[in-house]
Order: sequence, then structure tokens, then C-alpha cells
Amino acid sequence: MQIVFLGTGGSWPSKNRNVSAVAVRIGRDVLLFDCGEGTQRQLMGSNVSFMKINRILISHFHGDHFLGLPGLVQSMSLNNRKKTLEIYGPTGTVKLVNIIINLGYFIPTFHFIVKDLKDNDTVKCDGYIIKAKTAEHNVPTLAYAVEEDTRPGRFNVKKAKKLGIPEGPFFRKLQKGGNITVNGRRITSDMVLGKPRKGKKIVYISDTKPSGAIADFAKGSNVLIHDATADSSLEKKANKYGHSSARQAAMIAKKAGAKILFLTHISPRYEDAGVLEKDAKKVFPNSVVAEDFLEYDVK
Ligand SMILES: [Zn+2]
Ligand SMILES: [Zn+2]
Repeated sequence: MQIVFLGTGGSWPSKNRNVSAVAVRIGRDVLLFDCGEGTQRQLMGSNVSFMKINRILISHFHGDHFLGLPGLVQSMSLNNRKKTLEIYGPTGTVKLVNIIINLGYFIPTFHFIVKDLKDNDTVKCDGYIIKAKTAEHNVPTLAYAVEEDTRPGRFNVKKAKKLGIPEGPFFRKLQKGGNITVNGRRITSDMVLGKPRKGKKIVYISDTKPSGAIADFAKGSNVLIHDATADSSLEKKANKYGHSSARQAAMIAKKAGAKILFLTHISPRYEDAGVLEKDAKKVFPNSVVAEDFLEYDVK
């Protein structure tokens, strides 16, 4: 899994930050969380091919999170995309994509799968699932978790050989969790596999006030990407508009037991977001202010 931050600013673009968009590479898929205005230009400057994006998940319909969609889908069409594009988001997504498809003289070269998601909905994908959770913003907003499927434990070659299992197809079957019979003896995969390996989990939430439900949702995440619009001196104001301070994002990360926190949706008022990182680190030391084009490999 790799995360590529394409836009880390809130509300409107600044000199150093474009508005919200985060790409996630997982297996053969490329997911895009939010698509603020100018996201396609950011994609051109990143190592993510815009043609390879196969699922777009919009958090909510404030302009800084979706206005890049019309341009992006038109560019995909101009490049003769044939692959179906999936778009998910809160209530209103189907309606919005319909408007986008019928905008101007645009005729898409590909099909769309579009779905409105509700609280606790899941999207089953190849090797992972995407979960949606209602956030606390001032319009319907969803947080998303990407969770890899649990993988079978490590295959113990020594043990397998000791049991007299010949290498080859039998090994492969056991590695996949299957059972075999060798010389009339039944051998089950748990005899040669270690403990099942839990998949990685990343959570993306922008925008939200601090929310206990989101902390629960983010429980055990390897990576939490969280709204951190303001520093702690502006906390009340940030909360009033349905946002979190960096300090509050750090409290959520701590509560969730996340491994690393990326602060995003940084207000354009901060030319230097160092104050946000400092605020957050006091509560949750492994806090990082996300920057446009930052890449992070989830190990
Ligand atoms: Zn926003
Ligand atoms: Zn918003």
C-alpha cells in the first residue's frame, strides 16, 4: 500500500498546497479520496497515472473536495479510457455524477458505477474492503477506511518437509489455506502455517469535528489521515465550522491507537504549518503535517 498526497490544503488552494485529494495504491488498484479543483494537475506532477485510477471516493460536496471531478473525468475520456470508473460518496453522489456526465458537450468513452453510501456501508474489492463512516461536519460527510483482507500465516517449509510433503502443488495448496492428503495422511494448512496476518488499515477523514465515532472507526489503523484545519488557539472557531485542530486530530489518533497521523486540510492561513505539527506532537508524537506530493509506503 502506498499513499500519495496530492492536495493537503483546506478551503482554497494556496501557493504551497492544493485542495483535498489523496491517492492510495493497493494491489492493482488506485483509489482517489476526494478530488478538489486542480487535482488532475497535481496528478500530472506525481507518480500516479490518472488513467489508472479505478475508484474515486468523495467525502462530501464542499467545493474543495469535489470540484476537480468534471475535469478529471473529461481528461480520462480525451485519453480514450475504456475501463469502468467507480465513484462513491455520501447521499447526492449519483445526482452529482449525472450532472457532471451531462455537462457541456462531454460524451464519456467509458462507463461509470456510481453509488451513494451511508454510514457503515462497505465496498468489497479485490483483497480489501472500503468502509464508510459518518463524520461530524456541517453537511453529510463520510470518513473512509481501507482494510486489507487477513492473509494466511507464513508457510513453514521445514515443518512441511518434516511431514513428508513434496514441494510443488501441495505446498501451494497449503500456502493458500487448503488441505491435502499425502500417503493417506490428512494434512491441514494450520499444521504448516503460522498465525493469520492481519491486513493493513488506513483511514481518511476530511472534514470533521473531533468525533468519538471516528476514533472507534480508526481503531488499530496503520495510518490515520485527519482534518487539522487550525492550531489549538483557533480550536473553537474550527469546531464551529465542522473542523478539527491539529491537537484534536492527535487526540483521535491516540485514542484510535493509530501508528502514524498525517495532518491534512491545512488552512491557507498557515504558510508554515510547523505550529500544527508541534501542537499535535505534544499529544501524539508520531504526527506529521502532510505536504503535497508526499509519498508514504505503509509497511
Ligand atoms: Zn474542506
Ligand atoms: Zn467541508
